[in-house]
Amino acid sequence: MTGTPEYTEAICQHCEGAGCVYCDKKGKVLVKSPARKCRHCGGECCIYCGYTGWEDVKGKYD
Ligand SMILES: [Zn+2]
Ligand SMILES: [Zn+2]
Repeated sequence: MTGTPEYTEAICQHCEGAGCVYCDKKGKVLVKSPARKCRHCGGECCIYCGYTGWEDVKGKYD
């Protein structure tokens, strides 16, 4: 086992860093490293990525 996964900051694709409800107004979200675009929407934002555009977003689903 490798222990806890590493997370990295990624610019929220919904607001492109401006801050919105999906990223808690930070403009960034923590995603599992290496950051990958959501496989469902390719970064266009959908329910699977919590509208952040990223795969494996930390937080809401933990
Ligand atoms: Zn945002
Ligand atoms: Zn998505």
